[in-house]
Amino acid sequence: MKTDIFIAGSGCSGLYCALKLPADKQILVISKSDLESNDSYLAQGGMCMLRDEDDYDAYFEDTLKAGHYENDRKSVEIMIRSSHDVVDDLLEYGVDFEREEDGSLAFTKEGAHSAKRVLYYEDITGKEITSKLLAEAKRRENITLMEYTTVVDIIEKDGRCVGAVIRTKDGGLETVEAEDVVLACGGIGGLYEHSTNYRHLTGDAIAIAIKHGIECKDMDYVQIHPTTLYAEGEGRSFLISESVRGEGAHLYNKDMERFADELMPRDRLTNAIHEQMEEDGTDYVWEDMRTIPEEEIKSHFPNIAAKCMEMGYDVTKECIPVVPAQHYFMGGIKVDHESRTSMDGLYAIGETACNGVHGKNRLASNSLLESLVFAGRAARDIMEKSENDNDLSGLPEVDMTAYEDAQALSEEYSRLVLDEIKRQAEERKKNVR
Ligand SMILES: Cc1cc2nc3c(=O)[nH]c(=O)nc-3n(C[C@H](O)[C@H](O)[C@H](O)COP(=O)(O)OP(=O)(O)OC[C@H]3O[C@@H](n4cnc5c(N)ncnc54)[C@H](O)[C@@H]3O)c2cc1C
Repeated sequence: MKTDIFIAGSGCSGLYCALKLPADKQILVISKSDLESNDSYLAQGGMCMLRDEDDYDAYFEDTLKAGHYENDRKSVEIMIRSSHDVVDDLLEYGVDFEREEDGSLAFTKEGAHSAKRVLYYEDITGKEITSKLLAEAKRRENITLMEYTTVVDIIEKDGRCVGAVIRTKDGGLETVEAEDVVLACGGIGGLYEHSTNYRHLTGDAIAIAIKHGIECKDMDYVQIHPTTLYAEGEGRSFLISESVRGEGAHLYNKDMERFADELMPRDRLTNAIHEQMEEDGTDYVWEDMRTIPEEEIKSHFPNIAAKCMEMGYDVTKECIPVVPAQHYFMGGIKVDHESRTSMDGLYAIGETACNGVHGKNRLASNSLLESLVFAGRAARDIMEKSENDNDLSGLPEVDMTAYEDAQALSEEYSRLVLDEIKRQAEERKKNVR
């Protein structure tokens, strides 16, 4: 197969990148599962936006404070400054955000935010955004979408990325030659027993990068979300969004006493919950949504309330058990401010990439925005560069037998990622000492 640009991943970052590329480029977007099964669809709380200039310093500071001041400040600045352009694009693609009575955009607040600056749509913001991106991508004649298709490797020629190896729906292996390759394969939650992520998100792109000696950064920065619905033996953990606490929900220990500031940054609240569970000898703590007016629950959190009801809890009448679970990956394939990896012709965007914007810990609702902003920048860089660098001059020979055993390959890739997380964690500990 041949295409101008190959994008692995149909989440918000992959789709937005495809949409921001010019119509005269042939773009192939693949997805390991169906086109809708990605974490972008799961985002509940919302997406940050710089409301006005007066909020710039506070938004910047909140992002840095949550990230333990380890953030790449230029990335943060780019993200915040680009938020209006991204929101304008989304509105153009038909994305609906909640509005005030006067028609202006409505904002909510989440943990560790000092102001209301989160755009939202009920408690399914990610689905609202990503389904509209997908609908737009389906309308574009230059974009081809392939589901149940997995990237199993990239192809290198003279140190440049010139294509990829994919496993198609029927299990066959194919090579794809491309001018540029974009990895948008999401997070790593599928490697953890308890995670809010889709199970098929196993950091494949990161494993491929490690295998090719492409730099990866902050691999040990894995975010645990403080509040997911406790359920025995469930697959994917169901998230109880931070905005639920932002709107006033309380957390209680086994004696129904509050034990922490519910709006602390995620890592600190997670620690507080773990300590409380240990002290109480329980597998969960309680979250009380009865502190939120019933009308607000109905309009803002209908899907969370419905899921809890399905699991046997009426959030308007009783507390729900919640427990921390793996949620987000701050680390990933190291990229610059244009989403370029350390290999020529290869870009990484979204949760797979690490441009340092989140530092050690992501501020709530920054990841949809970050994914879109830096996906747009990758598209722009590809466009600017491709005028003098668009030669599809044939692939080197690829030994396809290396990819035949899908199970063995998947195990090898999981091991590569987990080992690298461990290695970087140990290295950091040594450097701190
Ligand atoms: C429950 C939940 C709630 C969240 N809430 C919010 C929120 O309110 N606000 C916010 O900003 N962020 C939130 N996030 C985080 C945010 O949704 C994600 O970080 C973001 O959507 C990631 O987008 P992405 O495009 O990088 O990846 P994804 O949307 O996860 O897409 C990854 C894509 O890569 C594909 N893929 C994976 N491996 C391969 C492979 N080997 N070959 C081909 N394709 C592959 C997948 O099939 C999928 O299409 C939430 C996350 C979760 C899980």
